[in-house]
Order: sequence, then C-alpha cells, then structure tokens
Amino acid sequence: MRLKGKRILITAAGQGMGRASAIAAAAQGAHVIATDRDGALLDGLSEKGIETFALDVTDPTAIRACGEKVGSLDGLFNCAGIVHHGGILDLSDEDWAFSLDVNLTSMMRLTRACLPGMIERAAQTGTASILNMSSMASSIKGFPNRCAYGATKAAVLGLTKSIAADFVAQGIRCNALCPGTVDTPSLRGRIVGAADPVQAEKDFVARQPMGRLATVDDITPMVVYLLSDESRFVSGQGLLVDGGVTI
Ligand code: NAD
Repeated sequence: MRLKGKRILITAAGQGMGRASAIAAAAQGAHVIATDRDGALLDGLSEKGIETFALDVTDPTAIRACGEKVGSLDGLFNCAGIVHHGGILDLSDEDWAFSLDVNLTSMMRLTRACLPGMIERAAQTGTASILNMSSMASSIKGFPNRCAYGATKAAVLGLTKSIAADFVAQGIRCNALCPGTVDTPSLRGRIVGAADPVQAEKDFVARQPMGRLATVDDITPMVVYLLSDESRFVSGQGLLVDGGVTI
C-alpha cells in the first residue's frame, strides 16, 4: 500500500507502460484515473477499481476540462508519446510538429492544468509528484532514425528540470523516466513493420547488454517509487531503467 490515499492521473493508460502503471499504482492503494486517446483500450480497468475516461493529450480543450474534472491530485504521470521513425533528411515539418505536440506540448499543457490542484494538495500533505515519460533512446544515447523522437524526449528532460526548479519550495517534485527498449504493443508494431522483423527484434535485443527486452513489469516499480513518498528527496532527475545500455 505504498500509494495509499493518493489520487493519481495517468495518460496513455490503455496499453503498454501506462496501463501496467495504472494497475501497479491501484494495487498499491492509489485512486487511479486512467486515460487514453482510445477509450476502448481502457476496458477492463474499472474492474480493478480504476476510474477511466478518454483523453487525447493533443486536444487543448479536453486538457483544460480534464484539469477541472480531476481536481486535486497527488500524482500525475504524463506517459503519452509516439515514435517517429526517420532521420532529419526524411522529416517533414508536419511530422516534427506532431511529435512535439504529442511528446512534449501535451505534458506542458496537462501539467499546467493540473499543477494548481497539486500545489493545493502538497500544501496539505507536504508533497505531490509529477512523472514525465522520456526515454533512454536518442535523448540520453543517440540511435539512428530517431530524430524527432530523440529531440522531443530530450526536451522532456528540460521541461522536467524546469518544473522541478520552479515548484520545489511548494512541495512539488518532478522527475522523468528514461526506459530502455520495452516490449509493448507499439514496439511489437515497429518490429512487425520492419523490412526483416526477425532481424529487427534481434537488433532491439542486442542493444541492451542484459540481453533481453524490458517487460512492463521491469518499469512499473520505478513508476511506483517516483509517485510514492519513498522518493520524497528526489526531484528534477531523469531516472534510467535501461538494461545497462548506458553503463
Ligand atoms: P504504446 O506505445 O504501446 O501505447 C501508447 C498508448 O498511448 C496507446 O494506448 C495509445 O492509444 C496512447 N496514445 C497515443 N497517442 C495519444 C494521445 N494523443 N493522447 C492520449 N493517448 C495517446 O506504449 P509504450 O510503448 O509503453 O509507450 C508509452 C510511453 O513510453 C511513450 O511516451 C513512449 O515514447 C515511451 N517509451 C517507450 C519505450 C518502449 O520501448 N516501448 C521506451 C522508452 C519510452
């Protein structure tokens, strides 16, 4: 019950790490509000005591409404993000703008909408925690064909440090999570969509010295830790869970 009594909002909770985090946080006693652009993907979560509603993080009106609807929060996990494949010479202005919108601007907007309620909450409890999904890949360590992805995920680290610095005196902590390669539906899609899927999977595995892909269960303990009071002296950090890629 490491999150008992905490009210936590999670984006992109329909599948992958967002969904696993919602389930892990609820199992630790949190009241979890799980959202996703695709509301159908949230099926099955309400049976676990999780509140759900559809939220597209690229919709500024919906984000403002979400901030009003959820009220005071102890935790916000900005998990939504997409991978754009390609280098700078293949990159259209539209794909660049869309990556920025989903991976970065959404976090700024949702945090801006939720922060006043979190500051109120931290005034009562001493702390509230924001967690932003960054990545090891191409923000900490460069990889080919991740130009827009790497730029946005690196910018998440800057946004995280800036929020951490501005609100540290008000009890708000803000950290970023930097996973390695995690076996999720979108990763499976990237493998299946490759010219040689068998080789693509081998390449994803080979880049991690621990010799395997992460599972979502390798990542959720760090999510729970960062949303819990156990991390009360941790703020402004990008926490790597990457199977040794950056040793
Ligand atoms: P995923 O990519 O399989 O699923 C992502 C979820 O995000 C889906 O349910 C989708 O409906 C939702 N989503 C997409 N656009 C959205 C929007 N505009 N508004 C709300 N929801 C939206 O899950 P994943 O691989 O766990 O990725 C989650 C996050 O983790 C992303 O930010 C991703 O960049 C990051 N990440 C993934 C890996 C990896 O290897 N899988 C590694 C590092 C970081």
